[in-house]
Amino acid sequence: MISVDEALAYILKHFKPLEPETVPLLDALDRVLTQDIVSDINIPPFNNSAMDGYAVRADDVVKASKEHPITLRVIGEVAAGYTAQRSVEPGTAMRIMTGAPLPPGADAIVRFEETSEGTQAKETRDRESVQILKAVKRGDNVRNAGEDVRLGEVVLPKGTVVRPAEIGVLASLGKQFVSVHRRPRVAILATGDELVAIDEPITPGKIRNSNEYTNAAAVLKAGGIPIRLGIARDNITDLTAKIRAGLDADADLFLTSAGVSVGDYDIVKDVLNAEGEMHFWQVRMKPGKPLAFGVLRGKKEVPLLGLPGNPVSAMISFEVFARRAILTMLGKTKFERPTVRAVMTEDIQNDSQRRNFIRVYVERRGEGYVARSTGEQGSGILTSVTRANGLLIVPENVTHVRAGETVEIQLLDLPEW
Ligand code: AMP
Ligand code: MG
Repeated sequence: MISVDEALAYILKHFKPLEPETVPLLDALDRVLTQDIVSDINIPPFNNSAMDGYAVRADDVVKASKEHPITLRVIGEVAAGYTAQRSVEPGTAMRIMTGAPLPPGADAIVRFEETSEGTQAKETRDRESVQILKAVKRGDNVRNAGEDVRLGEVVLPKGTVVRPAEIGVLASLGKQFVSVHRRPRVAILATGDELVAIDEPITPGKIRNSNEYTNAAAVLKAGGIPIRLGIARDNITDLTAKIRAGLDADADLFLTSAGVSVGDYDIVKDVLNAEGEMHFWQVRMKPGKPLAFGVLRGKKEVPLLGLPGNPVSAMISFEVFARRAILTMLGKTKFERPTVRAVMTEDIQNDSQRRNFIRVYVERRGEGYVARSTGEQGSGILTSVTRANGLLIVPENVTHVRAGETVEIQLLDLPEW
């Protein structure tokens, strides 16, 4: 048996970030920038008002207060999107809206609420003059040119993962197109004579092919492009044909399910070995002990991960190995799921001497969190994953986790709660 860490390290050596491609801005979401983004403008581009109010010279109103208002002559108004036509001279003020450029001469904004306008009805407002009820300092309520982004600055370094905030920054820089790592194309092949397709009736001895769908969904979640090849029967001709179809479809990664455990007929092993260089491992983990990994020879070399057939094993093996491979190809460098510390509410036994991935449900209780297993943990019980929002990973050398112990839980799929 090999350890999870050895298998992972060996597998990840075969993956690197894929080439850059230039995509429309919104298509960059959740992907990784391949170039530094340097700003060719200041943001904001000009000094402007952070509030609706009056643009003033701070020196004019240093003594202003409710008890001793200072009256200024109103010389006009400036709205967002326009520029002031006059300067603010001593003793004057200009009405100004949020986002409007600061008029020449002005150096601070007094909010409407701190002027006579704040207390007057709209219809009776004095348009000629305004009383300032509070002192301001130079720069108060003013947003300075370049205070968010400076001209020439690297705003988003190469390697940044693009989220809605980055999309917004890129939009404000006028980037209609950006360069990100290409998404990996992941060929997905289910193998087994017992499988029927989703739209076929279940006949004696048959089960539906669910792994194709869990794998395709997991590939999408991780940011890859699934290429579904359907079901290969347990014979050399069909399996070889489907493997070659995947290679012809320009896969960057091949995922198969089933046919790699010890008790299996050797069809999958024979075909994969004929098409490439394969390892068939027993990994020290539970579930997910059988695992194949190697490289197929197509037009280019394509890494292949042979996941176990059991649906839960396939999912956990995907989580541990395939997901990281896909994230690596996307240019991502962080792989760890967020964790939460929770109190286990039940005893967990691990006699396997393998790393045990217990499906748990974590929830808030009082100040902290509690976690319980989602029940029967057999590798065929896919609903144990549907009921879970986290994984308790029990190390190989730990035989017991006791009720009441605080443990670290890895959160799956960043669930909202
Ligand atoms: P194997 O890895 O071939 O020994 O298969 C282990 C178990 O997984 C068997 O019970 C299979 O029927 C089941 N299995 C294999 N492939 C699939 C699949 N695509 N969808 C659902 N179950 C599967
Ligand atoms: Mg089988």
